[in-house]
Amino acid sequence: MQTQLTSEIIDTAAGREADRILRNCVHCGFCTATCPTYQLLGDERDGPRGRIYLIKQVLEGHPATRHTQTHLDRCLTCRSCETTCPSGVDYVHLLDYGRYKVEQQVRRPWLQRWQRTLLRNFLPEPTRFKPLLRLGQWLRPVLPAKIKKQVPVVVRVLPWPEREHARQMILPGGCVQPSLAPEIDTATARVLDQLGIQPIQTGGCCGAVSHHLSATERARDYARLNIDAWWPYIEAGAEAIVSNASGCGVMLKDYAHLLHDDPAYATKAERVAHLSRDIIEVLEAEDLSNLNPATAGSRISFHAPCTLQHGQGLAGRVEALLRRTGFELLPVQNAHLCCGSAGTYSITQPKLSQQLRDNKLTALQQGSPDIIATANIGCLLHLASASDVNVKHWITLFDSGITDN
Ligand code: SF4
Ligand code: SF4
Repeated sequence: MQTQLTSEIIDTAAGREADRILRNCVHCGFCTATCPTYQLLGDERDGPRGRIYLIKQVLEGHPATRHTQTHLDRCLTCRSCETTCPSGVDYVHLLDYGRYKVEQQVRRPWLQRWQRTLLRNFLPEPTRFKPLLRLGQWLRPVLPAKIKKQVPVVVRVLPWPEREHARQMILPGGCVQPSLAPEIDTATARVLDQLGIQPIQTGGCCGAVSHHLSATERARDYARLNIDAWWPYIEAGAEAIVSNASGCGVMLKDYAHLLHDDPAYATKAERVAHLSRDIIEVLEAEDLSNLNPATAGSRISFHAPCTLQHGQGLAGRVEALLRRTGFELLPVQNAHLCCGSAGTYSITQPKLSQQLRDNKLTALQQGSPDIIATANIGCLLHLASASDVNVKHWITLFDSGITDN
């Protein structure tokens, strides 16, 4: 498509990147067919092609309005459109820039400002989030049923492995997951240990929450803090930085882009992005004959998070590994569609989010599975809040077969 971005925009590196992305789009509209929000709302401005056009208008100097902001807010950043696009349009980086520019022009209503400030300040900080969660868990027995389902119960966690191994991998510390579902990190650590790999847990929030709430500078700060925490281990030979939350994994793989203009961190960020792996990529490369999941034979419906299948291009990989290790995988209709969790989307866009969740659960429960498995904490909690079937992270299926040494 032809563009005429303002000189103020085109004179910046980010503006030139946006221009390149816009010019790649041929406006064919193939992407609208696989966009969850377009399917629900049927409005061109709630599909990728329409959003690209809205961003183009803003970058060409047309003032952004509350309507522009609303249509961009409704985007899940699921990247299903990127998977479909025949021209390889880098939609998500254009959206990030578009949202940032719109945010500078349009003042949000006070309620939204308050909500986004709370989310930015509580979710990435375990010291603030964990006490709130513990209070919710303590009050859980007296909470109304609807809210009760949103508060996960405290689970018994198996011991963290103590053995040392010559091979080491970094497990990011994360933000909400260790408080909400500590069994996921423990299972990952125990599986790695069983494979002869020592897990080193360090670092904090990957920055994704801030990034998707248009607080890009804060996201960059989280990335720098993580790089500082991981760098000594990388220099000492850690083989990989392993994510068991696909939403974090996709962010880590984008660190090179996030910090490309920071002279102190650009090279290190590239190295971190290069070393980042989802846990499925690690397990695929290992001999798994020592892993004998006690629940093998169970009938599993797998929900592939968008950040795994579209963001990291790892569609079908977990399913293949689960089949190979003895699970029965059930077919899931419209597996490419988002479940509506999408970071903080379930809080900022509850109506759309719940519609998508309910559609997803109908598809996942169709074959009457024993377990719904997934690969991202956000999807897990979102689905579990309305599911009749137990929802688990797939890596925890393997922990059940490990005996402590
Ligand atoms: S499919 Fe790609 S090229 Fe076609 S409209 Fe969508 S983003 Fe543009
Ligand atoms: S990222 Fe997802 S919701 Fe957003 S435009 Fe693309 S397909 Fe639609």
